[in-house]
Amino acid sequence: MQAEPTSEEDINKLVYYTRRTLGAKGKAVVWVYRQSCPKCKKSLMGKPRGKDGKVKIRSLEYVCPSCNNAVEKKAYEESLTTNIKYVCPSCKNEGVLEIPYKRKKIEGIDTLRGKCEKCSANIDITKKMKEKGQKDDDE
Ligand SMILES: [Zn+2]
Ligand SMILES: [Zn+2]
Repeated sequence: MQAEPTSEEDINKLVYYTRRTLGAKGKAVVWVYRQSCPKCKKSLMGKPRGKDGKVKIRSLEYVCPSCNNAVEKKAYEESLTTNIKYVCPSCKNEGVLEIPYKRKKIEGIDTLRGKCEKCSANIDITKKMKEKGQKDDDE
């Protein structure tokens, strides 16, 4: 498992971070680290910056700031690991899951789905639609 982020610096290395409550009893912390450039390994891949220096969050590719290697967003994200630290809403088991950073449509909502290691209940992290300006806002 990749370490849970504890500082602002760590948070900046993530493509995704969220804390959720699951049902009445459960909860989850989810984090996904960015990866080094597969080509030069010198830098973390990130969304490109525009001329104004702002990150283009809607960009459909990730680029390496060192060698400008570009990777398509979906392919890149699906190669990342989602870490989920959870308390199961069904059996209250506490555990950690690693799943691919790959969302499935479940009841029409993009969802990262893991399963409780103890009782196999679904641990569903649904995409939030309307939060702006947070790490959750991964459009
Ligand atoms: Zn590179
Ligand atoms: Zn469980």
